Amino acid sequence: MNGTLYGLIRKLEQTRSLTRTEYEYLITHRSQEAADTLAQKAVSARRRIYGNAVYVRGLIEISNICKNDCLYCGIRRSNRRCERYRLDAGQILSCCMEGYALGFRTFVLQGGEDGFFTDEILCGIIRSIKERHPDCAVTLSLGERKPLSYQRLFDAGADRYLLRHETADRSHYHRLHPPDMSFTRRMECLRSLRETGYQTGCGFLVGSPYQTAETLAMDLKFVETFRPDMCGIGPFIPHNDTPFRDMPAGDTELTCYLLSILRLIHPPVLLPATTALGTLDPDGREKGILAGANVVMPNLSPPSVRKKYELYNNKLCTGDESAQAKEHLAQRMKSIGYEIVTERGDAKTGNNKIR
Ligand code: SAH
Repeated sequence: MNGTLYGLIRKLEQTRSLTRTEYEYLITHRSQEAADTLAQKAVSARRRIYGNAVYVRGLIEISNICKNDCLYCGIRRSNRRCERYRLDAGQILSCCMEGYALGFRTFVLQGGEDGFFTDEILCGIIRSIKERHPDCAVTLSLGERKPLSYQRLFDAGADRYLLRHETADRSHYHRLHPPDMSFTRRMECLRSLRETGYQTGCGFLVGSPYQTAETLAMDLKFVETFRPDMCGIGPFIPHNDTPFRDMPAGDTELTCYLLSILRLIHPPVLLPATTALGTLDPDGREKGILAGANVVMPNLSPPSVRKKYELYNNKLCTGDESAQAKEHLAQRMKSIGYEIVTERGDAKTGNNKIR
């Protein structure tokens, strides 16, 4: 590893901040040695805050109906081959019931932007989950909504919100999304979520079409300044029924490299080893954890709909991706020195409002 690279890693570790050009250098001069050094520093930074705990979230994919047309996404509006579904309140509540028995204390309700889920309907669902499971956290990942809507859902009891920014470069954003989607609006949503009091998660695709070291450096700079409670990153994987069907997938090593950098930028951030990482590489989850991630999100959706929430080709939803296989996942984590814990697993970022 050259001296400049090592110097940058030391600077990152000590000051938690690099310039955009420096992040770019770190990305373009990536080597195995640099990756190992970053991973080792990331793992010790995480150990100081979270020990060897890995938090689990039960992911419930409540609807694949979406009004948006993101060019990378398999459930985009124009995909006529996608078989659409929507869970009702009863189904969502029984997923939570089952998840609770399995030891999950966070439920993530994720879905396309489905107009059926008005504030009133969602507030009812959130309240019912909180009534039945007051010791659990509810995370929403339902896309862009109005500030008032975020406020109502928060008042109904939602604790956290995940809204990946997808890319922090405006012109790159517009190459990944149709003209009716707005980079400014997405960023405003993130700020509004933060102001409302949610533990807020942003995140980006790794290896998305037209991504460069420069756009990734902007993602890292954004995380450095926004200081999210969570940051979800995963490799882009093409989906056959989207305009990006022939684009190459992102890669595991770069994703892990970025996970280590993110951990060093903001040590208390919650970082999932994502399903996309597990889909691209059979050891992706372990590799992610060993690079500095500390969250896994097994699938708790009703088995009958799992295949339909196909964001990209061959998305994992069975085997160890399934919430029902939590014990096996726990063994896998144990084999690399980590422990899956039965607790809410709030971010120790110090941003959280007491309620
Ligand atoms: N509608 C919600 C949830 C989107 S799905 C929202 O807008 O936030 C969750 C994430 O899946 C997206 O934020 C995106 O980063 C990721 N995703 C979508 N298509 C993908 C693909 N082809 N490869 C990898 N990740 C993808």
